[in-house]
Amino acid sequence: MRISSSSIQAAELISRAEAAYLGLALGDALGATVEFMTPREIRSQYGVHREIRGGGWLRLKPGTVTDDTTMSLALGEAILASDGRVEPLACAQAFDQWMRRKPVDIGNTVRRNLVAFRRSGEPEAPPSEYDAGNGAAMRVLPVALATLGQGEDAVRAAVRAQSHVTHNNADSDAAAEFLALAVQEGIGGGGLRGVYRRCVRPLVEGHTIFAYRPRRRENPSGWVVETLQAVLQALLDTGSFEECLIDVVNRGGDADTTGAIAGMLAGSIYGRDALPPRWLKALDPAMREACAEQARRLIQAAID
Ligand code: MN
Ligand code: MN
Repeated sequence: MRISSSSIQAAELISRAEAAYLGLALGDALGATVEFMTPREIRSQYGVHREIRGGGWLRLKPGTVTDDTTMSLALGEAILASDGRVEPLACAQAFDQWMRRKPVDIGNTVRRNLVAFRRSGEPEAPPSEYDAGNGAAMRVLPVALATLGQGEDAVRAAVRAQSHVTHNNADSDAAAEFLALAVQEGIGGGGLRGVYRRCVRPLVEGHTIFAYRPRRRENPSGWVVETLQAVLQALLDTGSFEECLIDVVNRGGDADTTGAIAGMLAGSIYGRDALPPRWLKALDPAMREACAEQARRLIQAAID
């Protein structure tokens, strides 16, 4: 997508970018309550889980987010400090600093490869067929915003530069690259139809492992393939931001991360006005402002 700096277009891009970033945080906060629960357990405890209420295995205060959002913010700050470029070493250092701040949760692959980075100073993890968790995909949003308007190959390369700090794996790459391009399509106004035609269909045709039909994916694990299957089903079977997020988190499993990924995608597609006011109100105000502000700065950097 080519972007110009016409102020009307810039305002629209910024609004959708904010919606994607707030969507990520809302999905994370909503899903964290039911992370690692089964759909049956969720039903018996909440009926349908549809409010941001905290709790869950992390015993979160209502409105707080987890690693999905805070790693994204750390990555975005590193990109902004590098004048909009995605530099592996700067990303690795930012993630390392993030880990030192004792986050409420952290994935095993992220921890292992950041500990290895501390020892070696090498910001790229070795390739591994086992490192196919969703940890690189969940934090890809700032790369999508910073590279808006660049060619597809450049976007994919920037995605891999951040991903490979912790996840050097072909399935993780395919998912994270897809998400960045799909968010860009959404922010550009392509709608659900555009995202489906130009992003979802090519993904599944090129990487059949991500085929998300016909089986309904419940209890999606942290394996990026199951995560993305659940997200795509929820996105394509619903018609609004709120329905999409409620659908995906009530599947249980890695629900904060499916919520976060569905939230960034659905936010970019449905826009700022589609975000439920009661959820925005429930979100921690400092986090709400940090996400919106970083979205604006990243888009501004992409336009400049
Ligand atoms: Mn998390
Ligand atoms: Mn998770």
